Amino acid sequence: MAQRQSKDQRSHRTSVVIVGTGFSGLGMAIKLKQAGIDDFVVLEKSDDLGGTWRDNSYPGCACDVPSLMYSFSFEQNPNWSRMFAQQGEIWDYLQHCADKYRVRDHIHYGVEFTGAEYDEESRTWTVTTADGTEYIGKALVSGVGALHIPSYPDLPGVQDFEGEVFHSAEWNHDFDLTGKRVAVIGTGASAIQFVPQIAKKVAKLHLFQRTPPWIQPKPDRPVPESVQRLFRRVPLVQRVARAAIYWVLEARFFAVFNKRLGKLAEHLSKRYIRKVIKDPELRAAVTPDYGMGCKRILLSNDYYPALNRPNVDLVTSGVAEVRKNSVVTGDGQEHPVDAIIYGTGFHVTDAFDHLSIVGRDGRKLQDAWRNGMEAYLGMTVSGFPNLFFLLGPNTGLGHNSVVFMIESQLNYVLSCLRPICRGKIDQIDVRQSVQDDFNTEIQSKLGDAVWSAGGCRSWYLDENGVNRTIWPGFTWKYWLRTRKADPADFEITAARGR
Ligand code: NAP
Repeated sequence: MAQRQSKDQRSHRTSVVIVGTGFSGLGMAIKLKQAGIDDFVVLEKSDDLGGTWRDNSYPGCACDVPSLMYSFSFEQNPNWSRMFAQQGEIWDYLQHCADKYRVRDHIHYGVEFTGAEYDEESRTWTVTTADGTEYIGKALVSGVGALHIPSYPDLPGVQDFEGEVFHSAEWNHDFDLTGKRVAVIGTGASAIQFVPQIAKKVAKLHLFQRTPPWIQPKPDRPVPESVQRLFRRVPLVQRVARAAIYWVLEARFFAVFNKRLGKLAEHLSKRYIRKVIKDPELRAAVTPDYGMGCKRILLSNDYYPALNRPNVDLVTSGVAEVRKNSVVTGDGQEHPVDAIIYGTGFHVTDAFDHLSIVGRDGRKLQDAWRNGMEAYLGMTVSGFPNLFFLLGPNTGLGHNSVVFMIESQLNYVLSCLRPICRGKIDQIDVRQSVQDDFNTEIQSKLGDAVWSAGGCRSWYLDENGVNRTIWPGFTWKYWLRTRKADPADFEITAARGR
């Protein structure tokens, strides 16, 4: 009896289980609340909400999408202090959204999602968590995103290193970098933000670059108090400004698909390098040899100036080995260091490999994705009824705000959840043919686009070189396709007795 009681206590029944409290998970919770649906829980592995904007607290962490667009359309913030908000301000914004829309009480903290199994008889998902607590829901929404599992490079000998080692997404704020000799591995979106910050403090910074990123100046500036006041008093002005930014960002997509515009953008970036970096060797080392847009185009005003500093050494000969107190490069040179910081990104195309998600007929998601992860509109996978992915396969962006994509998905998913929660339907499962046709269509667009044909290797591509992350089009086209789920795309099972 005692045993049964404790199992019951560790088992929660609800209509919808949402995983994650970043923009996706919180947004889903808010949309459900707004639709009058209160029977849901949000699982959060950490002790606070915020997803990637909670985890990434490295010095200089900021958004490279203008704040007016990097926020929900239904909760525009007139108080952004800069054109491009910094991490703390975005995290505050998410906290504000959780409070304002009263979703905080639905969040179960310290609960790590480990998997889920669909039971066709009861038409429910049983969600398992690291501490053994079970959640049984009619529907499951994944808001875990793509950028949350830090990727650690396999550097030979690193286990014997006696100094401090951490990843940009798990920054050790207790370790004082002042006067230290530091190795930074990687020169991606995160590294180019924290390198200028730590370069001012450290005695020596060895920056290990494998591939130089394309970088453009960041048009960042403080938003004057007068403009913030105007936005507060006349919200329409802010909405117009947001729309203008949306279309400017959307226009960047032309540069990705039009070779001439792409070349022009490369020319401008090279001019920027020439303007800031005077040393010809350094200039050559930071100039990419692949097409712009193949990897994420980065924005920064202080990265190249940081490389000019006498205490910063850009190393391009690759890490051969790590010793007790040093990093040795391919050319045999030994670089003594007190700390190693990884700016090496995240597991993306294999982000779901560690989870056990089992759909209809005992089919595992890993098996469904054996040849690469794919979904219909990035959200639903055939054979996995009532399961929805937010920012799932091929819905990431290089040119505009992912929050726009998330919001399009929230409306779409809500149109499926509403009849489930109201007891009208039991099961909604995308047709395999619909999913296949969709993926054939997008892969044909992606095949010869810059992400695959630009001459680089990036986390946009899976191990077979197939792009599983990027939406190959304008975001308004995605919005048009996701305004509401089309019943014809799904096998729908009416609720029993209906
Ligand atoms: P990233 O862009 O994937 O960069 C990882 C860097 O580490 C690359 O320079 C990569 O080199 C290098 N690297 C990886 N493994 C390595 C190895 N084994 N040896 C040597 N170098 C290695 O990762 P990130 O900088 O963390 O950014 C990830 C994503 O987060 C971004 O693309 C972006 O979507 C997002 N992000 C966004 C913002 C924002 O402002 N919105 C800010 C930060 C991050 P290669 O290029 O040669 O692979």
